[in-house]
Amino acid sequence: MTQIKRILVTGGAGFLGSHLCERLVAQGHDVICLDNFFTSQKTNVAHLLKLPNFELVRHDVTQPIWLEVDQIYNLACPAAPGHYQYNPIKTTKTSVLGAINVLGMARRCRAKVLQASTSEVYGDPTEHPQRESYRGSVNPLGPRACYDEGKRVAETLFMDYHRMNRVNIRIVRIFNTYGPRMHPFDGRVVSNFIRQALRGEDLTLFGDGSQTRSFCYCDDLIEGIQRMMEGPDAFIGPVNLGNPVEFTVRELAELVIELVGGRSKIVRQPLPVDDPVRRRPDIELAQTRLGWTPQVPLREGLQRTIDWFRSIEIEQYRPPTPNY
Ligand code: NAD
Ligand code: UDP
Repeated sequence: MTQIKRILVTGGAGFLGSHLCERLVAQGHDVICLDNFFTSQKTNVAHLLKLPNFELVRHDVTQPIWLEVDQIYNLACPAAPGHYQYNPIKTTKTSVLGAINVLGMARRCRAKVLQASTSEVYGDPTEHPQRESYRGSVNPLGPRACYDEGKRVAETLFMDYHRMNRVNIRIVRIFNTYGPRMHPFDGRVVSNFIRQALRGEDLTLFGDGSQTRSFCYCDDLIEGIQRMMEGPDAFIGPVNLGNPVEFTVRELAELVIELVGGRSKIVRQPLPVDDPVRRRPDIELAQTRLGWTPQVPLREGLQRTIDWFRSIEIEQYRPPTPNY
């Protein structure tokens, strides 16, 4: 029988956070979802509000908060390039001060704390596929740095609290993940292409579309995150979590058009600055240490995501808070 725990999920109303909260609540845990709703809305967790083991707190992780918990999943941070570049200084503060605040809480409560890190710590990688031992190639001065460097400092803080204060930590490096509840206007490639195809608009391909990404379905990712949290204390990571099947962005565009149908064409737009050329996780560590391998192929996951996009009222979603 699962032992019931008090679990804090920061960024719990977001795309991944809401799936995680849903799963933890279903397992019977006492879940506190903390969010400032910068890139999400309450609708993502509205169905959980009536449950006695779910609690929603509006709070910004850059500010300390006093809670008593057994586990913390630290997901609070804007994740899409358009979202994290909206207020880059705040993005760095969210990663760095957010990490300090959850680590302080974990130290005080003797809670276990997991950091949602990212493949962006590898920057525009010169090693392919990316292994955890690769130290990355990040431009510290570019427009992606607020996110990449913020997440790198957060990893450093996690390691230092672990070494200095024996905080029980986990670090997962998440690669591109998609699925229902992605923000329709987050500007990420999967949400953009699906939204455009459903409206019969042309799909905006940045650059020549030869850049690659490896897309993981959200359910697979959440399974991996929880296995890492529940795994042995001797394995703190970092561990890559992502789907190792690599696609060009052009292939993704063609697949979305095929699945949605309609008459959308592909139009080219300039490639953003510092856009990584190739990205694919080496997941051998996750496979051997966690027994984890993604199960959902891209075609199937995209179909589920398209079905969800068809079911929502897109007009009810708004871009990031304008006065943030
Ligand atoms: P998301 O934008 O949907 O979720 C992030 C959540 O954090 C949102 O609900 C947002 O409102 C909240 N948030 C942002 N700043 C906050 C603050 N200062 N205080 C409190 N809450 C705040 O994005 P997501 O895709 O669900 O990403 C979740 C986590 O996973 C992020 O930390 C992200 O860096 C990491 N990650 C995601 C991916 C991916 O492909 N989805 C890849 C790598 C890493
Ligand atoms: N991209 C694209 N068209 C879009 C949005 C993104 O071609 O409308 C490209 C983008 O340039 C990048 C890839 O798709 O090469 C993935 O972009 P996303 O913003 O989803 O994630 P990230 O770059 O952080 O992996």
